[in-house]
Amino acid sequence: MDKSTKIIATVGPAVSTQKIMEDLLKAEVNVFRFNFSHGTHEEHLKKIRWAQGLMERGYRVALFADLGGPKFRLGEIEGGNIVLKRGQEFVLTTRKIKGNSKGAYAPLEAVIPYVKKGDIVLLADGTVQLEVQEVKEDAIITVVRMGGEISSHKGINIPSRMSGISAITEKDVEDIKFAIKAGISIFALSFVGSEHDVMRAREVVKGACGGKSMIISKIERHDAVVNFDNILESSDAIMIARGDLAVETPYSRVPILQKEFITKAREKCKPVITATQMLRSILFNPLPSRAEISDIANAVIDGSDALMLSEETAVARDPVHSVRVMKKVIVETERFLSKKTLIQPGGRAKDIGEQIASSAVEIACSLGAKLIITPTASGTTAMRISSRRPTAPIVAPTPCEVVYEFLNLCYGVYPIKVDVMDNFDDLINVVKATIFEKKLAKEGDLAVITAGYPFGKPYTTNMVKVERL
Ligand code: PEP
Repeated sequence: MDKSTKIIATVGPAVSTQKIMEDLLKAEVNVFRFNFSHGTHEEHLKKIRWAQGLMERGYRVALFADLGGPKFRLGEIEGGNIVLKRGQEFVLTTRKIKGNSKGAYAPLEAVIPYVKKGDIVLLADGTVQLEVQEVKEDAIITVVRMGGEISSHKGINIPSRMSGISAITEKDVEDIKFAIKAGISIFALSFVGSEHDVMRAREVVKGACGGKSMIISKIERHDAVVNFDNILESSDAIMIARGDLAVETPYSRVPILQKEFITKAREKCKPVITATQMLRSILFNPLPSRAEISDIANAVIDGSDALMLSEETAVARDPVHSVRVMKKVIVETERFLSKKTLIQPGGRAKDIGEQIASSAVEIACSLGAKLIITPTASGTTAMRISSRRPTAPIVAPTPCEVVYEFLNLCYGVYPIKVDVMDNFDDLINVVKATIFEKKLAKEGDLAVITAGYPFGKPYTTNMVKVERL
């Protein structure tokens, strides 16, 4: 484990063989994202099976399904793309026409009743801006305010009219059922508006599998910014989805929102992902831009648990190169951070378990312990320790498959899947064997260990111990 900040790679057409997937893991990808806004179920299934095959061979990785949500997209454009000029008329219609410079198909049935003259419609991540002139039953007549190129299936945002729209679409429900059957239990919800969307998603997932699942809420619309605290409370993790966030809210606010959301997520001991355009120039150049290098470093310094690559691994010519570049910047930044004092989230511990997590980090830091070992049934203690950003790796044995996968998202956590967790000494012996095999530490190294009594029950962590391995 050369780095503590985790890397998420989006699996797309560029991950065209299982060997590339394996190379991504060797380059230290920790999580694979399957983006259900693109691709067919068959295409996803093939690659999910590749990933599961690699997991069976001993690679540690989490898989999650990123659901499309209520993101509107243009239909097919004749010839692939067109350029819209400032001042011209452009019609968005719910009729399934082939797009041209006069208009294009846009499945906006759900928002048309709420759209008003003067509203701004953004195409292609806000690079083209339209102003609504007239709203008809099946069409929105607009005039182009900022021209530019648009192509088939580009996104449509109407920031003023997202309020109240449910984040879970019929397609998402079908995708959830499919993904659960394929063995996925972590879901990212696009365009979450409030905690009710998260609760609805949990119901759908529970209905489809009945088992434990984890929900990552993507913060990318105005309502989500307003309702952030409640969304954080009801979610297992947060993704700062800067692509749409910078279109749905003033883009100048995004860097500050990123810092605010990371701080709040760490205070609640929940993992937080910083996403989108972290290395986009790598699609065109072998070296990252200076701004991207700084963006990656700053996202680490801000305290992100994980950084996400989108097109940089999904469609780039060399996805493994993208990961290597990102890792290099992360490693350098963490080296700088490790020389600084420990970053503990502010405030007093709220309960015994939180105080134990805090003390374990402090002891590990004072004594220069090589590892923190934290047996965890629910994942809570590992996440609490992780949120305090110790420099020592956090080895987290757990018997729960979903928790094991999910912890791959969390800063500094090295999850180990164990069959049972009913005897402390037996468990520590199993964990030690893995630690020595994976060269995480050697005999005689100092480890801080947390435990709960009665042992193996969730939410009982009440002890901390220091031991020479
Ligand atoms: C984003 O908008 O930043 C994001 C991660 O979502 P998607 O890639 O699904 O648009």
